[in-house]
Amino acid sequence: MLNLYYDPIYTEGLDPTVRFPRERYQLLAARLTENSDIHIQRPPLATREQIVAAHDERYVDLFIEGKLDSTAIRRIGLRPWTPAIVERTLRLVGGSLSALDHALSNISIAGNMAGGTHHAYRDCGSGYCIFNDVAICALAALKEPRIKKVLILDLDVHQGDGTAAILQGHPNIFTCSIHAESNFPFRKQQSDLDVHLADETKDADYLACLDRTLEKIQPHRYDCILFQAGVDPLEEDALGRLALTRAGLRQRNERVFQLHRQYHLPVVIFMGGGYAKPIERTVDAFEDLFTEAAQFTV
Ligand SMILES: [Zn+2]
Repeated sequence: MLNLYYDPIYTEGLDPTVRFPRERYQLLAARLTENSDIHIQRPPLATREQIVAAHDERYVDLFIEGKLDSTAIRRIGLRPWTPAIVERTLRLVGGSLSALDHALSNISIAGNMAGGTHHAYRDCGSGYCIFNDVAICALAALKEPRIKKVLILDLDVHQGDGTAAILQGHPNIFTCSIHAESNFPFRKQQSDLDVHLADETKDADYLACLDRTLEKIQPHRYDCILFQAGVDPLEEDALGRLALTRAGLRQRNERVFQLHRQYHLPVVIFMGGGYAKPIERTVDAFEDLFTEAAQFTV
């Protein structure tokens, strides 16, 4: 049984005219509720205390109080801004923390049906990301006595720049990002391991590169994996630049879930990006992601 966290506010907390495919969450939820191997739960709100572990207190307070200025909001995107974005954001981070909690307590795979907001920095948001749930979860995981080392595997097509910056130099968290070199963010940060791919990279090259990367990282040396599972490397993606097929992405996911099976590592799935046109191709790929995860948790 795969535990997944989701709330309708993931879609409804964004303005209907936003230039972001907000409907992907509800489309995906509609498909996954029919899957008897997946248990969908409503996440609690993350607390201020949980968020400030990875963020500047002033930034957190300005956001929660609805006082971010227009420059800060423009950098995030997600406009027109709506008051519901506060609850949406807190619930979204709550979903990731709940998935973390479930994965660690059961040594299993669990996921958030949103999140992976890896472009958020300590004191500002960027690229559709407000708070960095990946960094928040990595720091929260280390509060568990038996979690000594955390591996962040960011396979979204965009670099996990915010995550790299927030966690820079942290001795017990390893950040790895495999992304399209020419893509956003144009000023990259330094992860512990960055793998830059050329435009139009296809399945075989991508998977060979992933295998080499995993060999280098030696995942068994870690106590849990935070998997940013963006499906924007898909060839139909409007913001992606890579050329993976749906089958290639399935194999990518399987490589990660296999680590759970092989080494009994808890794995937390953060949904990440996906901007295909039509959006159904993105929803297909996310459906694959969670369906595969469910098969690995039986
Ligand atoms: Zn992305």
